[in-house]
Amino acid sequence: MHIVYIGGYGRSGSSILDRELSSSLGALSGGELCNLFEWSASDRRCTCGEGFHRCDVWGPIIESVTSRTGLDVGEVARRVADAEFNRNSNYVGDWQQVWSIVIENLSQAGIQAIVDSSKNARLRRRHELLIDLPAVGSVEYIHLYRELSAVVLSAKSGRNQNLELGVDIPDRFPISRTIASWLVANLYSRLSGPASNSYRIVYYSDLEDSNISHVASDLSAPWGVGYGEPVTEHSVAGNRALRRSAVGFTSVKTRRESRPPVRIRLLCYIPGLFIRLLLRLSARTSVV
Ligand SMILES: [Zn+2]
Repeated sequence: MHIVYIGGYGRSGSSILDRELSSSLGALSGGELCNLFEWSASDRRCTCGEGFHRCDVWGPIIESVTSRTGLDVGEVARRVADAEFNRNSNYVGDWQQVWSIVIENLSQAGIQAIVDSSKNARLRRRHELLIDLPAVGSVEYIHLYRELSAVVLSAKSGRNQNLELGVDIPDRFPISRTIASWLVANLYSRLSGPASNSYRIVYYSDLEDSNISHVASDLSAPWGVGYGEPVTEHSVAGNRALRRSAVGFTSVKTRRESRPPVRIRLLCYIPGLFIRLLLRLSARTSVV
């Protein structure tokens, strides 16, 4: 199995890059595969609209995992998360067993490549575990980068949407927490991504509507196009399932209009500069 892993921090355009890349490669658009079992346990839905247990793609796989490991889906979710976040986890063996079963099932269904956009928030080391999994042939790593002040603005508006939906998530320091999380995720992504078979940087600003399919085909070209029929309607991507309108990027004009306020830009300046310089040091490996 060939894995394309999208790393970096959230709110950076990974959903659309995931889908475009899957179409271009002929891969399964997995979305945030790290959440597959947790969301199955909490009855959330696949992007096809069905709960994961009733989904044509994931239902039989979840059934296979629970019957072969003898664990219920909640316990699978707990062990998988522990292995991905805890460096001294006792569940790395369980993680390997679970994802070997998933990959074996997908292979039997004719899928040869997966785009996994689980990213690296809170130092998630999922891509490192995938690199070591015998069932995985290669892991190509894409570090998706979006400017910090835009991420902070997006995080703030996302929180407002949560409030509108009646989901009150208490978060006392949303700006400083987003800045710290963005910094850590991008730093870790830059340091750990190159352990993959290839490491490349993609900038959100290059992913405009007119350019996204071009970027996706540029990215997939060296890996060979045509792994099979793309599967793009069974992703682990809650935001996409909830969204009524099609996923897309705001135009350049709209982005300029929603330029972050001075206070946010000042707070973001130093951490943003640090990561930009770090990424520039590896500019030769970037594709756009
Ligand atoms: Zn589905």
